[in-house]
Amino acid sequence: MADLNSLTSSAYNQALEVIASVEPRIAAATKAELADQRSSLKLIASENYASPAVLLTMGTWFSDKYAEGTVGHRFYAGCQNVDTVESLAAEHARELFGAEYAYVQPHSGIDANLVAFWSILAHRIEGPWLQAAEKKNVNELTDEDWEKLRRELGNQRLLGMSLDAGGHLTHGFRPNISGKMFHQQQYGTDPATGLLDYDAVAAKAREFKPLVLVAGYSAYPRRVNFATMREIADEVGATLMVDMAHFSGLVAGKVFTGDEDPVPHAHIVTSTTHKSLRGPRGGFVLATEEYAPSVDRGCPMVLGGPLSHVMAAKAVAFAEARQESFRAYAQKVADNAQSLADGFLKRDATLVTGGTDNHLVLLDVSSFGLTGRQAESALLDAGVVTNRNSVPADTNGAWYTSGIRLGTPALTTRGFGHDEFDSVAELIVHVLSNTEPGTTKAGGPSKASYSLAEGVADKVKGASAEMLDKHPLYPGLDLA
Ligand code: PLP
Repeated sequence: MADLNSLTSSAYNQALEVIASVEPRIAAATKAELADQRSSLKLIASENYASPAVLLTMGTWFSDKYAEGTVGHRFYAGCQNVDTVESLAAEHARELFGAEYAYVQPHSGIDANLVAFWSILAHRIEGPWLQAAEKKNVNELTDEDWEKLRRELGNQRLLGMSLDAGGHLTHGFRPNISGKMFHQQQYGTDPATGLLDYDAVAAKAREFKPLVLVAGYSAYPRRVNFATMREIADEVGATLMVDMAHFSGLVAGKVFTGDEDPVPHAHIVTSTTHKSLRGPRGGFVLATEEYAPSVDRGCPMVLGGPLSHVMAAKAVAFAEARQESFRAYAQKVADNAQSLADGFLKRDATLVTGGTDNHLVLLDVSSFGLTGRQAESALLDAGVVTNRNSVPADTNGAWYTSGIRLGTPALTTRGFGHDEFDSVAELIVHVLSNTEPGTTKAGGPSKASYSLAEGVADKVKGASAEMLDKHPLYPGLDLA
């Protein structure tokens, strides 16, 4: 087989030369980004490193093609190759997740959720409305009827996980459109354990009677029982939508099976492709046959022309995720999260829910006397890239926060294992134990400024460099 590393090297060197001939500063920034990613401990739970095959697939002339519509039914001419790409991506997604139907056009996770929301509204509200009015589509409605339907569509209820319990802003958070287009309520976690309390979710669902029950999370470090969530949805007549953006890699890699696999239980599943799934930046929707026709109308409902070059890269990423090696990777992501959590617990750090059983750990940094913002900044000084995150009932609000969210997908892709993640926990505790909160100009306690003891950043960078050198990112890819 050709040496893929040297092929990749020459592909990127030549591509960068072409880019530099037009705008050298972009070529330089692209090189700098690789250098930065190579030399830092990337622990952002929503990030990963896509393969060169996935990355290269995005840089082609498919970017130039308009293809509004669906496979074989486009509003533009000359879409035969896009049809090939979209069919393949959807087929791989269906096979990978055992789904009845896959829609691979959403540009991002937020778009996938918008497609899902409007599909549910179209299927549950608009469809029956038109049927009762004996109309084929909305264009046949009188202005008066159209206003009534619009009011009905805007009068529906959604129940999702609250942001500080680990939900996502698209799950009914007021500043997001999901919190504006629906009457929304949120379920949280048990204040004593930090764990999802299914009885409390059921009680809230019975009282609120949502049209949409959303399950899934961005910062909840535990698995969810989707069979139970479906029972709750069925009891109140809700559509169960699961947003698996964060953990779709663990579903694809069969770490989450049975009741923890959302696909057999949810009516609609949404996801990103770029987090634990390790694909290009994008989104997709899986659905049952019942919801497929409305999901299929993502364009023109809320999407315009699909990103054909990204759909091609999704097909490549799904094909990678169907390989046996991806299962081993996904299992390692979960094992490494366990090692990271154990590493913190044995050093007396506080974790939300007391641990993890997925790919992420939520460290409560208030026991170090810090806000999430101070901890995030001090860690970044030491070359450890994390993001601050609210913890349940956070007293520091969503901007400063009291937590740091850490995930294992990216460093697992580099080959980090148990010992390295234990060392990562040690380095993080070392940084945070040597960080002092600062004061405001007026002399009061600051939530943003901090001081990191001298020498700590260099020491941590040195220890990280040893691990990073042992597990190089894109080995063999040498930029000129
Ligand atoms: N859903 C969840 C659960 C997420 O965590 C995210 C991203 O953080 C999204 C949706 C949105 O994804 P994107 O940034 O691709 O729009």
